[in-house]
Amino acid sequence: MVHALLTHLDASPTPFHAVDVLARRLAAAGFTPLSPTGTWDEAPARSSAYVVRDGALVAWVGGTGPRPGRGRLVGAHTDSPCLRVRPQPDTGVLGYRQVGVEVYGSPILASWADRDLGLAGRVVVRHGAATEVRLFRTAHAVLRVPLLAIHLDRDANEGLRLDRQQHLQPVWALGDPAPGDVAAWLGEQVGAAPEDVCAWDVSAFDLQPAALVGRDQELLASARLDNQVSCFAAVEALLARHAAGSGDLAVVALFDHEEVGSTTATGADGAWLAQVLERRALAAGDDRRTWLEDLAGSQLLSADMAHAVHPNYPERHEPGHRVRPGAGPAVKHNENARYATTATSAAAFVAACGTADVPVQHYSHHGALPCGSTIGPLAAAGLALDTVDVGAPMLSMHSAREVMAVADVAPTVAAFTAWWGAPTA
Ligand code: ZN
Repeated sequence: MVHALLTHLDASPTPFHAVDVLARRLAAAGFTPLSPTGTWDEAPARSSAYVVRDGALVAWVGGTGPRPGRGRLVGAHTDSPCLRVRPQPDTGVLGYRQVGVEVYGSPILASWADRDLGLAGRVVVRHGAATEVRLFRTAHAVLRVPLLAIHLDRDANEGLRLDRQQHLQPVWALGDPAPGDVAAWLGEQVGAAPEDVCAWDVSAFDLQPAALVGRDQELLASARLDNQVSCFAAVEALLARHAAGSGDLAVVALFDHEEVGSTTATGADGAWLAQVLERRALAAGDDRRTWLEDLAGSQLLSADMAHAVHPNYPERHEPGHRVRPGAGPAVKHNENARYATTATSAAAFVAACGTADVPVQHYSHHGALPCGSTIGPLAAAGLALDTVDVGAPMLSMHSAREVMAVADVAPTVAAFTAWWGAPTA
């Protein structure tokens, strides 16, 4: 299981790659791919199917009980903080050719410096009279964000300050900037002539593969643990529910754009999930009344990584809610609704963990620090669903390279599987 996660992490440098890889796994297991813009037939709506739109995916396994449209959902997000290539990226100065980037979300900026960075994403190319979307990723490093030498910044260790506009522009060649350079290179990556490159969503990623580290390899270090671990666990659990054959409706919703607020066409604060669920219900032969009744009786598990207690900063954590790595997934509570967890939804998740024999922890944020948020409150509000926010513990959240305990991977998958009442391995 852990090696399958390492493979997934390395295969998912962007949301587009993540949903592509997960969709292939679903298709291989017998799920029917549905067009986001097409007409859906009754059979896939009632059984196992998925739909991909841009960097987001919704998949389901139909219910077999008296209310086959009522069930439980698991949501997660596919995006991670990174550096994204601007539309007119050819820049540089003093003998350096640089790629203009914009910071996406809230990365720990310094963690992107002095790393070997690749580029990955999607390019829209002209293809005859139409356009086509093509994915690519580099196998080798093409970018580098160099830090300033200590001799030129004697205060660097007293607090390194990086300006999002000025200090993060990667170098990718020597010489003078050449207009059209990046577009032509992107065309090469996807097999298109420079004049056929229309637009792109391309980001930098750390080329260092995911790895097991520590004396006994108890830790897992990788880019994008937040939130590919949750995406991976959600799909693993859905595959287990699919294999089980019978049970309530099980839905996975993987949203894009959580790191920038989720208010997009494929984000958790948009209409897409509600539309997909209603289209599924109508295609399955239900009417809107039945769909709304079923929705009212459904529950959502919002999966996003949790903060493990940091050994060097224990004072940053609420003393009564220090979540330990390797001690199981955490339910995330916040009385100010930064997390959507309610008493009833928390009880439902704890019960699922009990049936799977998975230990569960409870996270509450330090009272003097502003709490982060996730897709839970947005999806809960948009669909009026009782929702529990849950996540595996990790350190270094939003660093280019994050770390978690290997021992939390299988229990997280088992807890999500049990959420759907499916047998756990
Ligand atoms: Zn997250």
